[in-house]
Amino acid sequence: MNLHDLFPDTARVQEGELVVGGFPVSALADELGTPLVVYCEQTLRERARAFRRGAPHALLFYSVKAFPNVAILRLLAEEGLGAEVSTLGELAFARQAGLLGDRLVLDGNNKADEELAAGVEAGCLIVVDAVDDLERGAAAGAQRVLVRVTPGIDADTHVAIATGHAGSKFGLPPEQAMAAIGQARELGLQVVGLHVHTGSQLLDLGAERMTIDWLAGFAAECRAELGWVPELVDVGGGLGIRYLPDDPVLPPETFARAVADRLARAWTLHGLPLPTLALEPGRSLVGPAGLTVYRVGVVKQASDTLTYVAVDGGMSDNPRPQLYGARYVALLANRAEEAPTGTYAVCGKHCESGDVLIERASLPHPRRGDLLAVPSTGAYTLAMGSNYNAVPRPAAVLVGAGKARLIRRRETVADLLAFEP
Ligand code: PLP
Repeated sequence: MNLHDLFPDTARVQEGELVVGGFPVSALADELGTPLVVYCEQTLRERARAFRRGAPHALLFYSVKAFPNVAILRLLAEEGLGAEVSTLGELAFARQAGLLGDRLVLDGNNKADEELAAGVEAGCLIVVDAVDDLERGAAAGAQRVLVRVTPGIDADTHVAIATGHAGSKFGLPPEQAMAAIGQARELGLQVVGLHVHTGSQLLDLGAERMTIDWLAGFAAECRAELGWVPELVDVGGGLGIRYLPDDPVLPPETFARAVADRLARAWTLHGLPLPTLALEPGRSLVGPAGLTVYRVGVVKQASDTLTYVAVDGGMSDNPRPQLYGARYVALLANRAEEAPTGTYAVCGKHCESGDVLIERASLPHPRRGDLLAVPSTGAYTLAMGSNYNAVPRPAAVLVGAGKARLIRRRETVADLLAFEP
């Protein structure tokens, strides 16, 4: 595997060991324990800057659901990004990082009254996702809103993370969205623009282009029927990342430029005034910046053709294999230059036969105590983790500028017992 295909920008092999951000992974693991999610500051900053280069005039909001973390929110805020939040908890993380007002977008398909109230109090741009968001939003004192419309476009991605299709639980079908814009204005809300999110882990531009073209047509209808045009068009997140060396490459700069160009083209075709573009990347910012480091425990030959390598985490820190059939590759961080000698099934420590992280990993024969590094695990891993089997969730560390900073401490069994009255 070419390291830079999937590992963060600063990953190197030095004296046979994987080094990230100048720190040998084994030193990080010895000091902070395993499993450990290691984030590379340089990769995070570079990916944020790449979005900016591609769409210099766009508003950028980090989609906090990919990995809610205050240090990363602060770092991205330094790069000029705001945050897209969909719950009270995500909003609290963004506020803790110092984000307020027009640097926040609040969406969510079932916002509680207290979430709307907190969003209004923080000055968020509120995304109307359902008809009853209108009255409840107005009652909470909302002023600036976007209306989320469902274009009915099928994205080429896993069904669980496609969102723009007809029948989606997110957003409003076009006629209802049009009516909601009218109702919102009657309620005294300022409808600043439209919101849409086609789906996640998109590795080609097809669905995104279709969505933007469709949206321009919808905006033209809004002008004709309501005399209203959007000043802001928020197209959500969606850019995919590579999990396997053979996955296609779609860099953030190319994606952002293509979206901005398409928006300009589609709006011009309809003779509409060009709106401000907003993007809400999540996975594509934090995913490739993170890798998970596990300690190998039991190595068990289950049959002539199947050897399990059990690590000290699993579906509690990364449920993506179970949720989406996600596939990963891995490297032995402490023996990074050794050639593979076979394929091994990397499994976790949980009480489910399905707790398999990688079905066939090419590795030098692993031994107890080795460190297994899994790249592209910075997004929707810890964020979706659980405490299954009463396993405390891992720590996360940010490496960069000569420092390794703990950005999320490891949970302890005492933390779990603290929930028990
Ligand atoms: N914005 C919205 C409204 C979303 O629903 C999502 C993901 O589901 C995102 C942004 C982030 O998407 P991604 O992580 O694919 O960039």
